[in-house]
Amino acid sequence: MEESSRPASTVVAGASHPADTDDRLRVGISSCLLGNKVRFDGGHKHDPYITGTLGQYMDFVPVCPEVECGMPVPREALRLVGDPANPRLVTVKGYEDWTERMRAFALRRVEQLVDERLDGFIFKRASPSSGMERVKVYADHDPRDVPEGAGRADTARINLGPPQEKGVGMFARVFMDRFPLLPTEEEGRLNDPRLRENFIERLFVMRRWRALAEAGMTRGGLVDFHTRHKLLLMSHSVEHYRALGRLVAHAASHDPADLARDYLTGLMEGLRLPATTAKHANVLQHCMGYFKRVLTPDEKMEMLEVIQRYRKLQVPLVVPITLLNHYVRKYGEPYLAGQFYLNPHPVELKLRNHA
Ligand code: SF4
Repeated sequence: MEESSRPASTVVAGASHPADTDDRLRVGISSCLLGNKVRFDGGHKHDPYITGTLGQYMDFVPVCPEVECGMPVPREALRLVGDPANPRLVTVKGYEDWTERMRAFALRRVEQLVDERLDGFIFKRASPSSGMERVKVYADHDPRDVPEGAGRADTARINLGPPQEKGVGMFARVFMDRFPLLPTEEEGRLNDPRLRENFIERLFVMRRWRALAEAGMTRGGLVDFHTRHKLLLMSHSVEHYRALGRLVAHAASHDPADLARDYLTGLMEGLRLPATTAKHANVLQHCMGYFKRVLTPDEKMEMLEVIQRYRKLQVPLVVPITLLNHYVRKYGEPYLAGQFYLNPHPVELKLRNHA
């Protein structure tokens, strides 16, 4: 992503999203992605897509673990060393160990974030503090142990060894352990259209779930939530839809807190599975069933044709979805009108414009 001179900010505001929730999303974010100059070199990693496009629908809650746990700007760069499953966080040259300070900070900070009612988090990729996955972990070897007179190549070999890209940033790990069901993603992966849609879709689902939970979860509310997410969930996993349906059907025999936790666990697990072209095409066919009696032969043929073109990747998903929405309005189909599948996130984000 290009850097820009965007000024530092703590909360980025924008327009509200009318489609499926009155509230804006609340998303935690690695502070440097907002343009805040908190990086080790005094710079930032402003991501214009996040602040400009996503920022219209989200309020961001920035976190810079390194600065917030007491490191200065600028500062020496850090890295993970040792066991990728349980690495230490050290400065590259001085080998100052920040592991315990960062861990203690992270444990405190995630508790503060409970009050922020986050819908998800966007992490800065590759960072030893903020990276979500595949962060480099180096051999644990103090560079000060390099013998006097060692050449540059020797120093590099002795100090670094081959890094393993198996680490998780220290703050990111604590965050994901504390909030295992919250959608998380890295800014780099948001460049992939399918990963981007999947993440943002989950953010909006989480927001609607939070609204339901905060209003006081009732069995009726859960049934309605499940019903309205049926097609959306089916586009990821029919199995998860069915399993959650059984859970909801037996809601009365569950402790309410257990029920809510188990439902959300299954929901987020299902939604993380990729919504493939074939799954979408099946859902679109399923939708047609609701119009069986009202569509004219021409309309039916047009719909089938568009689904077929989508199946062959000749048109993006937004094409059959737009046609479906047209028929929903035209024939006043109440069940489909309530389905979030037809309107899961603001159309202005153009998340379904890829083939
Ligand atoms: S610690 Fe995280 S938020 Fe702070 S500069 Fe590094 S990547 Fe950005």
